[in-house]
Amino acid sequence: MKLKFSCIIKIRVKEPEIISGSFAVIFGEKGKNKIMVEKNRDVLKKIKLFVLDMDGTIYLGDQPIEGAMEFLEKVKATGRDFMFFTNNSSKTGEMYVDKLAKMGCHVTEKDIMTSGDVTIAYLKTHYPDKSIFLAGVPELEDDFKKAGLHLTDDQADIVVVAFDKTLTYAKLEKICHQIRHGSMFLATHLDINCPMENQEFIPDCGAMCAAISLSTGKKPKYLGKPFKETVDMICSLKGCRIDEIAFVGDRLYTDVATGVNNGSTGILVLSGETRPEDLATSDIQPDLVFDSLKEMGAYL
Ligand SMILES: [Mg+2]
Repeated sequence: MKLKFSCIIKIRVKEPEIISGSFAVIFGEKGKNKIMVEKNRDVLKKIKLFVLDMDGTIYLGDQPIEGAMEFLEKVKATGRDFMFFTNNSSKTGEMYVDKLAKMGCHVTEKDIMTSGDVTIAYLKTHYPDKSIFLAGVPELEDDFKKAGLHLTDDQADIVVVAFDKTLTYAKLEKICHQIRHGSMFLATHLDINCPMENQEFIPDCGAMCAAISLSTGKKPKYLGKPFKETVDMICSLKGCRIDEIAFVGDRLYTDVATGVNNGSTGILVLSGETRPEDLATSDIQPDLVFDSLKEMGAYL
């Protein structure tokens, strides 16, 4: 009895932050808690690059999540690296640089990647000479043009649907017409809804594609998270091996799935969309789960 009691005291004194996290619920089961601590450290030890989601992971709306900035500092201080990846193709890297700077997080455009960037890289690699009809915001159109891709308003070889906040019925009609007449159908990402403040949602790229698919009978090839093209692009850009990367975020079917489905590590933070009870019914099971980046930082 004495030995067991001293063991509890040792953990509480040495690792107060760790036991206060999501796994503290099993604190009564001392052995399991110790195993979890060791597993977290073991998995994180091999990670050289953290690819972080933003909304629900780093910030909520315009507010940084407690401990997120300190986590980023710890990543750098321990000789690791981080970058941000978002499926939101209605914003550019430049727009995110400004948003993050207002929260005290100073990064450059090379630290931020969107599903729009993956789509551009995919098209440049596989279809550099094809004509493209893009349904996207003007800023994304500019990025496509800067990359040297050939945009057209006429019948195109490829139709690309992004999170197009400028979508009109006329554009929708044109997209469906082109796909019906043989254009390849690509989409930047599969998210159905985009979270807004006050727990509201607006229709995202996946919802637009659902309407197009219903009309044409054709399904798109999706890029962005959780697909392999995204992991491949990050590996080649950052010079990392797949197994040295951890994808971290608050969504199981995009953030976590990118890691666990493609040979990297998938880490769930419970600071956004996913509730602990969602894990019981999910096909996607994360390698690790933390309350927030603050809790994960304690293991680095
Ligand atoms: Mg998120």
